[in-house]
Parts: sequence; structure tokens; C-alpha cells
Amino acid sequence: MDLDTHAEDLASDLGVDKEEVKADLSNLVEYSVPIDEAKQSLRRKYGDDSGGGATPSTVDVGEITPDSSNVTVTARVLSAGKRSIRYQGSDHVIVEGRLADDTGVVDYTAWEDFGLSPGETITAGNASVREWDGEPELNLGESTSISFEEESLELPGGSSYEIGGEADLADLETGDRARTLEVQVLECERRTIDGRDGETEILSGVFGDESGRLPFTNWDPAPEIEEGASVRIENAYVREFRGVPEVNLSAFSTVTALEGEVDVGSDAPEMAVGEAVAVGGVYDVRLVGNVIAVRDGSGLIQRCPECSRVVQKGQCRTHGDVDGVDDLRVKAILDDGTGTVTVVLDDELTEDVYGGTLEDALEAAREAMDQEAVADTIREKIVGREYRVRGHLSVDEYGANLDASTFEESDDDPQARAENFLEVIA
Ligand SMILES: [Zn+2]
Repeated sequence: MDLDTHAEDLASDLGVDKEEVKADLSNLVEYSVPIDEAKQSLRRKYGDDSGGGATPSTVDVGEITPDSSNVTVTARVLSAGKRSIRYQGSDHVIVEGRLADDTGVVDYTAWEDFGLSPGETITAGNASVREWDGEPELNLGESTSISFEEESLELPGGSSYEIGGEADLADLETGDRARTLEVQVLECERRTIDGRDGETEILSGVFGDESGRLPFTNWDPAPEIEEGASVRIENAYVREFRGVPEVNLSAFSTVTALEGEVDVGSDAPEMAVGEAVAVGGVYDVRLVGNVIAVRDGSGLIQRCPECSRVVQKGQCRTHGDVDGVDDLRVKAILDDGTGTVTVVLDDELTEDVYGGTLEDALEAAREAMDQEAVADTIREKIVGREYRVRGHLSVDEYGANLDASTFEESDDDPQARAENFLEVIA
């Protein structure tokens, strides 16, 4: 049913002007209020207390599907975190988290503050269900009644049933909310952004724990978050940013400094190129493949002194005629048979593969009277060889690019591997 049909139904039910109802409805829906909640809210606004809809049925959590209509469910609160969203032009605080019984778990959003906290067993009467990213989500709104049960519901074992929302960085997924983390702040920078309420300061950087690393944004800078600090964070949520899950901390997140240091693992997951590209980007990943080509714009290059973009014939696309600053980089195409990525090496990694400094490169270009001489040397050295690469993979309209932090020739010699293979089939 589209908005127009919903508005028409509701207007004829309530005996009010359709355009007025439609304007109200689209306003609510725009702020992510589920359509059933929005209709209920308008019924109240226009003075119809009948509530509409059938009596909700009592179900187990595992039975709830995105197609379920209103339900009544008894479950244990696994997590509960507040977040502020903009709703009808003003800030509105919601509570979100996860509920479970012994048949399954389900995410919820509470549009009212029912005072939910982790560990409690509740019965939610008349909760509406909406689909979120293919999964059902319970909505607890004005028409929902919450009662707190004295007897705690028993839950099965297993990490997905743990109370408190504790998680390792590697387990986090886009859409997660009310998560508790213990991490070390690996990188942190303060930035001023143009937010919806004017200029505002935020912190952004990278968290690490034993399981991995993820970027973060702290929308309401916490003093405990500084480079090198180990912290416990309660009520973080996860959204996707540039194809990678990003940990978000709001004014409602709690940050506590930890006495001990959180260990940070040194390894990143190793993936096939095709798999890493298919997930849409990975913050820290290892890939192994053959360099099949070195792209144009590699070797000795010149950057704009204003914006650092690569300049062509002394021209920056934004700043026009500029005096380019010499630099080194490589854009190498890595192929492992499942897919390809462009691996970008910075000046230091480029010096390593080139086997010389920027000064050496300038000297070589002068001698050859051709700056391409540097790229040609690099091509000769790396094309056709196998490399292990680690770094940050992003996938966007410019393709799949990996900003390399390490770039090492693979230990397993392809020649030896080919010989082994021949022996096996001989
Ligand atoms: Zn420029």
C-alpha cells in the first residue's frame, strides 16, 4: 500500500481532509516512524480511540517475521540504549536494542521511554512489526503496553543470547545498536563539521581490540577518548560509512577509562579479492595475488601544493596552473583469480619497491629525460610477481582500491608452487 492509499483509508475512517492526513503521514514516515505507528498516532490526534487493527496474537520471538501484524510477546531485554533522532522537526529520544526468548532474538525500537534495562523480562502487548534490512523489528509505541515480569525468562546459552550487548569489533555489523565494547583508541582526531545545528566538533579515528580494528565517530566528544587510551563504551551503534562498518558514539553513549590496556591483535583477516570486494569494503584486510599491471599515474608524480591531487602537465583540476610538488606512488592491479583491486602504495612503500629515494627517482628521470622511466623500472620489478598486501579496502564509484599499509612479496614462490603442481600431476 502506498502513502496515498494509507492516507485515503485513514481520512475516510476519521472523516477528515485527506490532504491534511497525507501531509501528517508523510512527515512521520520521513522520520522513520513505521506506517502502523504513524497511523495510530494520527488516529489519536484526530480523536479516534478505536485503535484499529485486529487483536494482537501472543507469539514466540522465533515466530515473528517481517510480515507479522501486531503481536504480544514475552521476552528478556538483552540490551537497551538511548539515541536521539529528529522527529517532526524536533529531537526525540528513542530506546533501541534486542529482545530474546528461548526461540530467538529480535531487534526493537521503543518510541516511548518504558524504562527498559538489560536483564529484565517484559511482556510487550500490541507491538507492531516492521521490516528492517530484511529482518523483523519490533516497534514499541504509544499503543504498546509493557509489563515487567517477576520471573526471569530462561535463555539458551550462546553469544547471541548474552545480556548486555557486549561485542568484539570483528562481530559488529551495520545496524547493530546498544553494543558494549572494550577497545584501545589507535587513532583519534578532532574535526569541525557543519552539522544540522551549525558547526560542531566531533572525534573520529580507529578503535582496536584483539579481534580487529574499525573506524569510529564520536558525535559528542568524550574526554576519555584520546590516542592510546583503553576504554569501555556502552551503547554504541554501528552504521555503514564508505562501505565499512563504523562504530558510532552519541551523547547517550557511556565512555569509561579502563585501568589496564586492551590488547590489539596484530593480524587482519585474509580474504579472497572477490569476496572482499563483494562485501563492499573492509577496514583492515590481507590479500594475496599477482600484480598484473602498474597503472598510469604511477612512479614519479607531481601533486598540487593546495589540495595534494595529482597534477597533469602542471594543471590541477581545481587550482589550475600550479607549481607541482614531486612525489612517488604506485597504483598496481592485484589479481588472485577471484577478482582484482587497485593497490595504492604511498611514497615510502614506493621507495621500497623502486629501491631508491625520491632524489634517486628525480635523477633517473633527468638522465632518461623521461619521468615515465621511474614507473617503467617499478613495472619491471613487480609485474608478474605475487604479493601479500594489507590495508584499507574501499569500494565505490571509482572501483575497488586498497590503500596499502604493507606490501610484501609472497613467501610462496610461484615458480616452486608451479613445480610442485607439476610433480603432483606427473
Ligand atoms: Zn589543487
